[in-house]
Amino acid sequence: MKLGIVGLPNVGKSTLFNAITNAGAESANYPFCTIEPNVGVVAVPDKRLDKLAEMYDPDKYTPAVIEFVDIAGLVKGASKGEGLGNKFLANIREVDAIIHVVRCFESTEIIHVDGEIGPARDIETINLELIFSDIEIVQRRLDKAQKAAKADKKMLGEVELLTDLLHHLEEGRSARAFAADSDEAAAILAEIPLLSGKPVIYVANMCEDDFINNIDTNRFYKEVCEIAASEGAAVLPICAKIEEEISDMDKEDKAMFLGELGLTESGLDRLIVKSYDLLGLISFLTAGKQEVRAWTIKKGTKAPQAAGKIHSDFEKGFIRAEVIAYNDLIACGSMAAAKEKGLVRSEGKEYVFQDGDVVLFRFNV
Ligand code: GDP
Repeated sequence: MKLGIVGLPNVGKSTLFNAITNAGAESANYPFCTIEPNVGVVAVPDKRLDKLAEMYDPDKYTPAVIEFVDIAGLVKGASKGEGLGNKFLANIREVDAIIHVVRCFESTEIIHVDGEIGPARDIETINLELIFSDIEIVQRRLDKAQKAAKADKKMLGEVELLTDLLHHLEEGRSARAFAADSDEAAAILAEIPLLSGKPVIYVANMCEDDFINNIDTNRFYKEVCEIAASEGAAVLPICAKIEEEISDMDKEDKAMFLGELGLTESGLDRLIVKSYDLLGLISFLTAGKQEVRAWTIKKGTKAPQAAGKIHSDFEKGFIRAEVIAYNDLIACGSMAAAKEKGLVRSEGKEYVFQDGDVVLFRFNV
C-alpha cells in the first residue's frame, strides 16, 4: 500500500515524514532495496504477528509494510505546471490514498503561507489543484464520448454522466463527493483516474497541549471534521511534534513516553490503522519455523487470489487452503493441538478470507 502525504508549506509535513522515516529505520529488518529520499517505509503494527513469532521462533519476521511518499511540492499552481507541479500530480496518481496534512496549530514564529491559520481555505487550495487536473481529464473524455455518441446512441448515458461530473468539479467540489446513481455509472467513473476521487485522510496537526487536553474544543479541528464529513473523508488528529520525538525511541521508551501523556498508541500507528480501514484492507498471516509473515488483501478476497499475493503459481495451481482463525490457534497453543480439536478448516476456491486467518496453501506446481 502506498500513501501520499500532501499539504501546504509549514503545516508539519516534513515533521511527520521524518517521524515516518525514523520509525521505518527502527523496524528495518527487511530489505528496503533502493528507496528514494521522498519515500519512507514502515511496518504495519500487528500484535498477532508478535504472538506467532513467540510460538514459532522463526528465522524471519516479516510484517506488512506501508510506503509513504512525501509530495511536498504540491503547491498553489501545481496543476498549471508551476513548481514541478505535473511531477507531483503524477506522484499522486500512483498512490492508493492521500494523507492531507492540515495545520491546526497556532504559532507566531512559524508563518502561514496565507498569513493566518484557516483549515477550510488550506484544504480548498490543495483540493483545487487536484480538481483542476481532473477537469482537464474529464473534459477530454467528454469530448471523445460526444464524438462517439454521434454514431452510437448507447454513449449518450456516458455523455450525460461526464457532463454532470464536469459541472460538479467546476463548482470546486472533489470527485469523491460525486455520487454515481447506478452501477453502470460507478463502473465508468472507476475507470477514470481522478486525483480528487482518491480516498483521503485529513491529518489535523495540533500543538501538543491541544492534542493531549482539548482535541474536541480546537476550532480548527472542528473545521476539518466538517469538511471531511461533507465529502465522506476520514480525519485523524495528530501532533507531528510528538511523533517526531518518539520516532527514534525503542519500544519500551516509546510506550512509557506515550503512557505519561495518557496515550496508548502513536499517531503513526493510528494513521496506519485508519488507512487500512479507509481502503477496506485486512491481513492474513502465514506462520512456520522459516518465517512468520503478514499479507495485505482487500476485504472480500477469495482464497486463490489471496494465495496469488504470495506467488502467482499459488493462484494458478490453487487446490485448497488450510485455515485457522488466529484466536483459535492462540487458544490451542499450537497448530498440532488445534488440528486435534478439528479447528483447522480445509477451504476451497470460494472461501472469502477473514482478517487474522492463519493459512497454509495447498497447490499444484
Ligand atoms: P512542512 O513545510 O509542511 O513540511 O512543515 P514542517 O514539518 O517543516 O513544519 C514547519 C514548522 O512547524 C517547523 O518549524 C516545525 O517544527 C513546526 N511544527 C510542525 N508541527 C508542529 C506542531 O504540531 N506544533 C508546533 N508548535 N510546531 C510544529
